[in-house]
Amino acid sequence: MRSPRDSLNRLRQVVEDLVELEWYMTNYIDLHTHSTASDGIYSPTELLHKAREIGLRVLALTDHDTSGGLEEAAQAARTLDIELIPGIELNTDVSGGEVHVLGYFPEFQRPEFQAVLKVLRDARERRGERMVELLNEQGVNISWERVREIAQGSVGRPHVAKALMEAGYVQTIGEAFDKYIGNGCYAYVPRYKLTPEDAVHLIASANGLPVIAHPLELPGLDELRNWLPGLCEAGMVGLETYYGLYTPENERELLALAHEYNLIPTGGSDFHGPGMHPTPLGGRYVPFEAVERLKAEAAKRRGKTPPPFKLPPPVQEK
Ligand code: AMP
Ligand code: ZN
Ligand code: FE
Ligand code: FE
Repeated sequence: MRSPRDSLNRLRQVVEDLVELEWYMTNYIDLHTHSTASDGIYSPTELLHKAREIGLRVLALTDHDTSGGLEEAAQAARTLDIELIPGIELNTDVSGGEVHVLGYFPEFQRPEFQAVLKVLRDARERRGERMVELLNEQGVNISWERVREIAQGSVGRPHVAKALMEAGYVQTIGEAFDKYIGNGCYAYVPRYKLTPEDAVHLIASANGLPVIAHPLELPGLDELRNWLPGLCEAGMVGLETYYGLYTPENERELLALAHEYNLIPTGGSDFHGPGMHPTPLGGRYVPFEAVERLKAEAAKRRGKTPPPFKLPPPVQEK
């Protein structure tokens, strides 16, 4: 016989699951997506069409180191009656892992901002080429030309992973990261060395709003706690809380941190297309308040003279 307490706990679980399901089914915001302008599979227009099909009303496009997809996305969004939030994602390396910083509403037409992004993308090209060389040295034969072709826009490791898959060296993108190009593997080459603070300053230099992406993918929650004061000091305004497969428990922890540091809790799927990240487009409930708060903060900065940004000097790559 089940005890009344067990029955109550089970019932509580069912209610929690139903609430979660309803959230999922009524979700209409996704603030973290990628297109072919970086390492996504769908073009900005295709992505917006997919968003429309599933009933999304607000979508942020956050490609890596490029605003190259934003104009096309804005045009598609207008015809499909979706609100497009311009965004970007900057990946930075720290000892023991990576910190990704999202930037919302950057004034991306600013020439100084574009010039820095170009330096970062050019460095991505050289780094991609170097990774291919390291693979070739070990007898893994993929060509840089093919990686470049797959990439179209801003080159990233997922493009190298796809070339490895195509050539039959791996079955999945994840396996390519595990065996060849993940941090610590022989063909891994770091990106242009930016600190998370540099990324925050770069986004702020275009009046954008820096937000810590998928904070639990950092080396750890303890590190996050240690870094938060410095990151907030640098100008961070948000913390991605409703992300991918984060559990309700994760969400609660992150919400508490966001509250403690007065950061806007944001969220999204990190959708890249099938086979890359597990969460489908729009697959994560994001409260409308996140959008409202981001917009209010962006409005305060728009048109103001932003602080200038100076790119740190490049370090010797391996
Ligand atoms: P990059 O900025 O070129 O170093 O590429 C990093 C991107 O690769 C991340 O933003 C993810 O989208 C993707 N990525 C990282 N690790 C994995 C993995 N294990 N499996 C699939 N995609 C990954
Ligand atoms: Zn990506
Ligand atoms: Fe990321
Ligand atoms: Fe992302």
